[in-house]
Amino acid sequence: MHIKTNHNLAETWVDDVSHLIHKILPEGNVASKSYYETEKLMHTLSMPYHRIDVCQNNCMIYWGDPDESLIICKFCEHPRYKPEKSSRKRASGTKRIPYKRMFYLPLSDRLKRLYLSERTASHIRWHAEHTCHDGKMEHPSDGKVWKHFQELYPEFASKSRNVYLGLCTDGFNPFGSSGVPGRNHPKRSLDVFLRPLIEELQSLWAFGVEAFDVSVKQNFNLKAVLMWTISDFPALGMLSGWTTHGRLSCPYCMEDTDAFQLMHGRKSSWFDCHRRFLPPDHVYRQNKRSFLKNNVVSKTGPHYRSGDEILEHQLGEFYGVQKTAECGGNGHVNNQIEGYGVTHQWHKHSIFWELPYWRTHLLRHCFDVMHIEKNFFDNIINTLLNVTGKTKDSINSRKDLVLYCDRKPLHLTQFDVGIFFRDLCSRSLNRSDIAHLKDNIAQTLCNLEKIFPPSFFDVMEHLTVHLPEEAELGGPMQFRWMYLFERFMFHLKKKANNKASVEGSIVEQFFIC
Ligand SMILES: [Zn+2]
Ligand SMILES: [Zn+2]
Repeated sequence: MHIKTNHNLAETWVDDVSHLIHKILPEGNVASKSYYETEKLMHTLSMPYHRIDVCQNNCMIYWGDPDESLIICKFCEHPRYKPEKSSRKRASGTKRIPYKRMFYLPLSDRLKRLYLSERTASHIRWHAEHTCHDGKMEHPSDGKVWKHFQELYPEFASKSRNVYLGLCTDGFNPFGSSGVPGRNHPKRSLDVFLRPLIEELQSLWAFGVEAFDVSVKQNFNLKAVLMWTISDFPALGMLSGWTTHGRLSCPYCMEDTDAFQLMHGRKSSWFDCHRRFLPPDHVYRQNKRSFLKNNVVSKTGPHYRSGDEILEHQLGEFYGVQKTAECGGNGHVNNQIEGYGVTHQWHKHSIFWELPYWRTHLLRHCFDVMHIEKNFFDNIINTLLNVTGKTKDSINSRKDLVLYCDRKPLHLTQFDVGIFFRDLCSRSLNRSDIAHLKDNIAQTLCNLEKIFPPSFFDVMEHLTVHLPEEAELGGPMQFRWMYLFERFMFHLKKKANNKASVEGSIVEQFFIC
């Protein structure tokens, strides 16, 4: 089956080859004789998946008690099922067809299966068994977040078979950039679809599941924890509940940011937001000419906010930040939330807070280096080559340059963004190198601020300043970036051939891969 999907071979080809193999083998063999037989066999082996009905408008899923039995949406009153054709009477026992459906692939079965193969069983325990050289980080388990978690939950940490998970979300657009979803795009109703997963994670944390470790031939109780999510920047907003566009879009700086809206370009700019990350005695801090006109910087980088602080002081205080389960997938209305866009950008109480350990994690939502790196370099190249429509050096930005800066446009000197990304993404990181990276990136961004117009500095350029800190917390980047998942999803999407039911088609392909 794997060969078939890899080479896009026809089903009749599988029929013929299966038939041939069946004939070659000694008489009385049980090898399958056709594609159909093989597929049937695969289905008995493969993991179960659930089909869950969804409201047409993404308000809720018809899942769990008592929602499972509803026939109209409790928020928008849209019916659950398509009307039956009156001319054809429904035979008893046949199922009605819902307007929309999601597929859920339960996690526990997949984790259990990992311990059923000798090869993967030892790999899952590797994090607890490997030794790491002093000051080096080769795996997320060498990072601060992991160690902090293990200190807080020694009982969980003592069992090396327990699983540490990362959740990657990727934009799901099976038809390429031509885009179908439009009005029905899940956007802020993402939490609706995550509910089955969160409930399963809660149970995996509290009770675990019975599993069998084939390498030592032993039954054991398998528990799991979700360490963080990995996503591109817009999805990070959907997952965390902190809107990621506009002036307050940086989830580290939050309201303590110096970003501003450009008078002429009308965009948010992070120009001159990076001197605060430099050492206190750095000469750039006093410079009144090269950065924002007549501005000296004395403050330090933004204060780190713990999960408790966010949950109690921020989400607790702001009236109106609701959970999706309370208001429905489309119920989050920003302008009804006090202070939205001015002092905070919380649009929802994310479903992840329902995980009991989520508030104690030092890092919850990882930035994806892949997208940040790509956008950063796209911006540089487009501006340097002056690509029409994409350059950040337009008439408006020249006007802004005169308004905010006291300098003439400078020639480009050598800068080392490339070296920064190379060092940051190396396979193993030295703790002392990270300290250097922190200082260097602040300095590099300041150097860029001396060259490029304010409109160049959008949030992607700014986010790089937080990346070394994330590396320190979470460990090497290669375990927390999206390359892997993007490639896998691309592969799956290519194979999705039933355009009427794309999700189903992708799920089917997933089992064959
Ligand atoms: Zn609805
Ligand atoms: Zn920031």
